[in-house]
Amino acid sequence: MHRIEEFLDMKNEVTEWRRHLHRHPELNYKLYNTANFVTEKLASFGINNIETGIAETGIVALIQGELGEGPTIGLRADMDALPISEASNKPWASEIPGLMHGCGHDGHTAMLLGAAKYLTATRNFKGVVALIFQPAEEDGRGAQRMVQEGIMDRFGISQVFSMHNWPGMPVGQFAICDGAISSALDEFDIIVKGKGGHAAKPHLTNDPIVIAAQIIIGLQTLVSRKTDSQESLVISVTKLNAGTAYNVIPESVQISGTVRTLKSGLRDFAEKHIRSCAEGIASGFDAHVEYTHRRLEPLMFNHTKGTTFAISAARGLVGHDAVDSNAKPSMGSEDFAYMLEARPGAYIRLGNGPTPYVHDPAYDFNDEALPYGIGYWVNLTETTLSP
Ligand SMILES: [Zn+2]
Ligand SMILES: [Zn+2]
Repeated sequence: MHRIEEFLDMKNEVTEWRRHLHRHPELNYKLYNTANFVTEKLASFGINNIETGIAETGIVALIQGELGEGPTIGLRADMDALPISEASNKPWASEIPGLMHGCGHDGHTAMLLGAAKYLTATRNFKGVVALIFQPAEEDGRGAQRMVQEGIMDRFGISQVFSMHNWPGMPVGQFAICDGAISSALDEFDIIVKGKGGHAAKPHLTNDPIVIAAQIIIGLQTLVSRKTDSQESLVISVTKLNAGTAYNVIPESVQISGTVRTLKSGLRDFAEKHIRSCAEGIASGFDAHVEYTHRRLEPLMFNHTKGTTFAISAARGLVGHDAVDSNAKPSMGSEDFAYMLEARPGAYIRLGNGPTPYVHDPAYDFNDEALPYGIGYWVNLTETTLSP
């Protein structure tokens, strides 16, 4: 197990890579320059097993250990930026108007490159490391597409790991938990359809606006009165659309919102009960509803064995107390969840210091965190693939 001091001398070089990526952000699947940069760096380290063009611009590169046969583990970094105009005022700020690395994926990419350089030079592990560079995390589909294109089977990957920088947590600290670490995300639309008419003669209508109001109130009881208070479920109505005139009761109302939960059974519960609540209230007033429910991102679930490896890798690097092994799950979503559905493994948070939060125009990845991410990847590899 290596201490952080062993990685500090890599900081300057990896900072240059990170800032190069930061100056040249690209979106979603169109990461052509980013993918070229990554591929050239990997080749320059002496890696010759590199497959490009997975999910358009995704990359998987393999490093063979020198301590014998063993399994293959996947280490994943996301590479995409966001459609935000940067306001960081840093000398290395985005040179592309309207785009910026506002989530630190430039840092994630640079840290995995740093680890690739170190692991290629040392190869002090058995089996194989599969470096997974992923497009379109922000789009929410890049990880899913790489899995659908068969990377887990094709490269024989048996466990997967990832990390995300965490503004507000000091540099040099890590946080993780066993089990659910970030929430599943679903969207729903309820269209209330009834009879509209003249606002002066409401008795000739069944007023879908009043019905929609009751449905919205009804939805509030699903969490407060139908869900165990120890469980995490958030149902939020976020859009409401109806009507075009002061004197007309409209014939339909659209209610839309999101469901977030840390337990997959609660997704089925929410879908079933939002529908029955809406249908029941509408039918009581002689109206009906059209209901659609879309599952966007799965629950991200850390597996016990992978979490144990991750905790010991991080603690070996920074000491016992700098790793919170019982972190609170987040109600945000993260598409690495698709890879953790396909294979066991773990996702960890890496302290980014007191920077603005991710997706803020003033945000910038903290280069002080780079050696910690590199050291974590190296320790994780040597721990998980120890002979
Ligand atoms: Zn993001
Ligand atoms: Zn992100």
